[in-house]
Amino acid sequence: MADAVTIYDVAIIGGGPAGYTAAIRGAELGLKVVLIDNAPRLGGTCLHVGCIPTKALLFNAEIWDHLKHAADFGLASIGTPSLDWSAVLKRKDSIITKHVKGLEFLMKKNKVTVIAGTGKLTGPAQAGVHTVDVTSTTGATSPVSSPSQIKAKNVILASGSSAKMLPGLQPDSTILTNIEILSIDSVPKSLIVIGAGAVGVEFSSIFSSFGTEVTILEFLPRMVPVEDEEISKELTRLFKKRGIDVNTGAKVEKVEKTATGVKVSYTDANGKPQVKEAEKVLVAVGRAGRTENIGLEKTKVELERGLIKVNEAQQTAEPGVYAIGDIVSGFPQLAHVGSMAGMVAVAKIAGAKFRPLLRDRIPSCTYTDPQIGSVGLTEAQAKEKGYEVKVGKFPFAGNSKATIVDSHDGFVKIVSDAKYGEILGVHIIGPQATEIIAEAVAVLELEGTVDEMMYTIHAHPTLAESMLDAYGAIEGMAINA
Ligand SMILES: Cc1cc2nc3c(=O)[nH]c(=O)nc-3n(C[C@H](O)[C@H](O)[C@H](O)COP(=O)(O)OP(=O)(O)OC[C@H]3O[C@@H](n4cnc5c(N)ncnc54)[C@H](O)[C@@H]3O)c2cc1C
Repeated sequence: MADAVTIYDVAIIGGGPAGYTAAIRGAELGLKVVLIDNAPRLGGTCLHVGCIPTKALLFNAEIWDHLKHAADFGLASIGTPSLDWSAVLKRKDSIITKHVKGLEFLMKKNKVTVIAGTGKLTGPAQAGVHTVDVTSTTGATSPVSSPSQIKAKNVILASGSSAKMLPGLQPDSTILTNIEILSIDSVPKSLIVIGAGAVGVEFSSIFSSFGTEVTILEFLPRMVPVEDEEISKELTRLFKKRGIDVNTGAKVEKVEKTATGVKVSYTDANGKPQVKEAEKVLVAVGRAGRTENIGLEKTKVELERGLIKVNEAQQTAEPGVYAIGDIVSGFPQLAHVGSMAGMVAVAKIAGAKFRPLLRDRIPSCTYTDPQIGSVGLTEAQAKEKGYEVKVGKFPFAGNSKATIVDSHDGFVKIVSDAKYGEILGVHIIGPQATEIIAEAVAVLELEGTVDEMMYTIHAHPTLAESMLDAYGAIEGMAINA
């Protein structure tokens, strides 16, 4: 229980992956930690309406896709499978609940004080102590002890992000964000997805598997625009093969509700006006940092396009105030970025050793079918930085495990520096790309070279062996292609 005289070493505002990781690591480092969260349950966007529920649905979609071809696997007499959507949602919810309980256990185990409420900085520290106003949250189920003010020597802001909406629109049962779409009561017959970043393409992949007619409208010239250009091309090709209607260079002009759903007017890549109707529309045009109403106005904290500027130790311009996770500028809005930033911030506070986040060592994973995993520089970025680039590419078509799991599409592309052979970037589209990429992150961390990796033994038969072939391909010496 908190009391009025307790002065914590650190108060964390926000209990998503950034905040709860900072809380646990802070406690492990011996800090006295309080975690303030205003959602009904701990876990933030990631656990409740982001990473975890989407991946649960994608796993269902993958099983469903295999069942459609059950006879090809020799499962001939299982009859016609049918989809029980409410059971799919129930399974997703039970996964969330299990992990919420896990988080609550970890808070207790690490003696982190959890406060259900909305936290707001009152301004700069007075005599080295910050004050955070806490407004209690009704309906909260987390362990509740809600003093109106918390005192702490340091504050970490981790309030996360919310889906951006198109001007004039409000989410409801037809116009959806990542929140509403995760609890729709049936699989829609048709869905327009505005935005082809990770969130947009993941939901497109899920609902296409479940039989929805999906149309993607993306303003930029390519899908997953942060990925290597060849990855975008391959995803587009494979989505089209699956029957997804992909429209890039499409500028959405108007979204109107109709008697049966929604009508979206847009200008296509050739400048022609187009109209598309569907049962539902998903708006997936990016995430806005929750930087309002957390008390920044009375501090020196600086914003950059709505997100908080930090230094390499996650410190803001206000002494004693740190920021981590989706509210931070300059880094991708990903759970693993937020959680590592949390570990950096508390290490700094505790005076422990830490290493700053490096932008080009952050894996980026898109859990579509097929999956995308990438880390480091794209081919274009490496060239822009002045490297003489050597590229190795290996298609999953030549990998025996890919045949076994019936997933041949895609490739591994490795970008290396011709001079010293250093691996600069790895870009995978294909089966389990989001798992295989872990090897590439370690290789980049250890500044591995093509020579070293060409003689690194990869188990057989594995999807990861395609990495070995791709390293070999850089020297024109892949074995299986
Ligand atoms: C559909 C979707 C799928 C995604 N999939 C992935 C994925 O597969 N992998 C991945 O790495 N990332 C994924 N992400 C991104 C990931 O969810 C975010 O990067 C991550 O949740 C950010 O963590 P955070 O702790 O910064 O913020 P959040 O998770 O948003 O948590 C912030 C918490 O702070 C609380 N809060 C806000 N303001 C206050 C306040 N004033 N006082 C108290 N509490 C407050 C909020 O209620 C919330 O609980 C996905 C996102 C979406 C939308």
